[in-house]
Amino acid sequence: MEKVRVNLKENSYNILIGKGLLGDLENLAEHSPEQNFIITDKNINALYGNYLDALDSYERIVIEPGEQSKSIDVTANILKQMLEKGASRRSKVIAFGGGVVGDLAGFCSAIYMRGIPFVQIPTTLLAQVDSSVGGKTGINLLHYKNSIGAFHQPVKVIIDTGLLHTLPYKELLSGIGEIIKYGIIYDYEFFKYVARNIEKIKKCDEDIMPYVVKRCCEIKAEIVSRDEKEEGLRKILNFGHTIGHALEGITDFSKYAHGEAVIIGMYYETIMAKKMGIVDEEYAAEILNFLDGLGIDLNIDDYPVLELADWMLKDKKNVGGKISFILPVKEGMVKEQMLEKSGVLYYISSL
Ligand code: ADP
Ligand code: ZN
Repeated sequence: MEKVRVNLKENSYNILIGKGLLGDLENLAEHSPEQNFIITDKNINALYGNYLDALDSYERIVIEPGEQSKSIDVTANILKQMLEKGASRRSKVIAFGGGVVGDLAGFCSAIYMRGIPFVQIPTTLLAQVDSSVGGKTGINLLHYKNSIGAFHQPVKVIIDTGLLHTLPYKELLSGIGEIIKYGIIYDYEFFKYVARNIEKIKKCDEDIMPYVVKRCCEIKAEIVSRDEKEEGLRKILNFGHTIGHALEGITDFSKYAHGEAVIIGMYYETIMAKKMGIVDEEYAAEILNFLDGLGIDLNIDDYPVLELADWMLKDKKNVGGKISFILPVKEGMVKEQMLEKSGVLYYISSL
């Protein structure tokens, strides 16, 4: 079993990573004598619900799979069930699922009686390498993704890489997008490792997945430990996301899995960095070649540039009407570049 520590003073916690960890859940889970809750979705419950049978102090709340469950209505419904079943301030919540379950269950834990402890057991690659670590929780309102939320750190993250084999390929690729991102923003050696081993990663090779997931968690843990509330450094995690989020929005969140949109976003943001002359040409070519080889349709010509820019203007990271881009500079290093809408239009229309 691998272990990564997230250092956040009194909010510090461990991430445990290994294949088959769920077999030992009875020992690994957090127990309390209170009424505890597992929040999961129907798909995961059908596939892996039996792993949780041993946790008898836990009541299970099973939601519909999919982004539409990250709503005020589903949140209210979960909170009502918790109140009715007598959850106290000492009750614990396990979020057992992908990013949707993690964000929603994390948010319910953040606001129930002003915050109760929760454990993340992420089941998608995206959630294992990204969303389960760092304490961002939230739901969507009026089509604005994660517009309502709270920072609420889990007390523990338990990652079983053995769960990845049942993931649809699109979901796997989505996680791969975030994995590549870590290499580009922080660790060039890791980027090269991922590029060399990409075929194994696409098959969730059991020999390397625990390492790959661990390295991503380490990088995220280090960044989050230095900037929990995204005042500076944490912004580098948004590489690929300014364009990526716009692509998700313009396609009504239905065409791309999140990490697929991030892959396309990283591709075009690297081209932007080239046009601005802030990235080494040879290095940019290395990134572009690799992203191009992943087999994702990178064509964005069908999307009106003005609409894309409008989606970017809605981003929470913007300041004073300027749009924030994280752009590659050199191996393992990125920097923030703020652009006015006119600048964005100029660069996007020339991509
Ligand atoms: P994300 O982590 O990408 O935000 P979601 O929480 O929306 O993803 O999960 C994506 C889909 O994959 C959902 O339909 C979910 O039920 C399903 N899913 C989650 N984990 C697994 C798994 N290990 N195997 C198969 N399907 C899974
Ligand atoms: Zn992301």
